Amino acid sequence: MNSAVFIVQKLFFNMLHKTPRPLVLCGPSGSGKSTLIKKLFDEFPDKFGFSVSHTTRQPRPGEEDGKHYHFTNKSKMEDEINKGEFIETAVFSNNLYGTSKKAVEKVINNGKICVLDIDMQGVKQIKNTTLDPLLIFIKPPSIEELEKRLRNRKTETEESLQRRLNTAIEEIKYGDEPGNFHRVIVNDDVDKAYHELRDFILRELK
Ligand code: ADP
Ligand code: 5GP
Repeated sequence: MNSAVFIVQKLFFNMLHKTPRPLVLCGPSGSGKSTLIKKLFDEFPDKFGFSVSHTTRQPRPGEEDGKHYHFTNKSKMEDEINKGEFIETAVFSNNLYGTSKKAVEKVINNGKICVLDIDMQGVKQIKNTTLDPLLIFIKPPSIEELEKRLRNRKTETEESLQRRLNTAIEEIKYGDEPGNFHRVIVNDDVDKAYHELRDFILRELK
C-alpha cells in the first residue's frame, strides 16, 4: 500500500478509536478531591477508573494497598523512578508520590476513563506529556474552612497539618491563575460541587 494512504488511514483509525481524555483532579490537601472522586465512582462504576499512585507515606486507617495507593518505601520508589517507570513524581509533605505508567495503562486497558488525583507539581509535569487530560482544580471555600476540614478528618499530626496548610496557599494561587486548569470548582457545599464536576466532565467527554 502507498505509504501516504497508510498514514491517512492510521490517522483516521486513531481519530475513531481515540480513548477519552483522562481527568486530573488537583487541589490542596483537604479540599475534597477524594470525596468527589468517590461520588463519581459510586455513580459511574463502569465508566471511570482510578490511577492508583505510589506513595512513601504511611497508610491511614481504612486505606488499602493497591486500591487507594501502592504503599512503598523511598529506596524502592527511587529505584523505580530511575528506571523510568513513572509519568510524574512529587515530594509532598516530606513524602514521595508518583503516577506509574502501569497505573494509567491498567485503567485505559480496562476501557475506562482514567482519573488522577495529583498535586500541583504533578500537574506541571503532566502538561509536558501526551496524556492531554482535562485539568480540574478543587478549591476550598477558604483557608480557615480547609483547616477545619483537615482537623476534622483526624488523619494528620499537627506538623503534617501545618505543612499541608502552608502548601495550600501556593496551590490556590496556582489554581486561580488563568489558563492553568480547564475548570476551577469551589467545594463549598459538597453536593453542589459534585454536580458541577459531574456536569462539566459529562459535557466535555461527550
Ligand atoms: P482531599 O482528598 O482533597 O485531601 P477529602 O476528600 O479527604 O480531601 O476531604 C477532606 C475532609 O473534608 C474529609 O473529612 C471530607 O469528609 C470533608 N469534606 C469534603 N468536602 C466537604 C464539604 N463540601 N463540606 C464539608 N466537609 C467536606
Ligand atoms: P494524601 O497524602 O493526602 O493522600 O495526598 C497528598 C497530596 O499528594 C494530594 O495533593 C494528592 O493530590 C497528591 N498526590 C497523590 N498521589 C499523587 C501522585 O501520584 N502524584 C502527585 N504529583 N501527587 C499525588
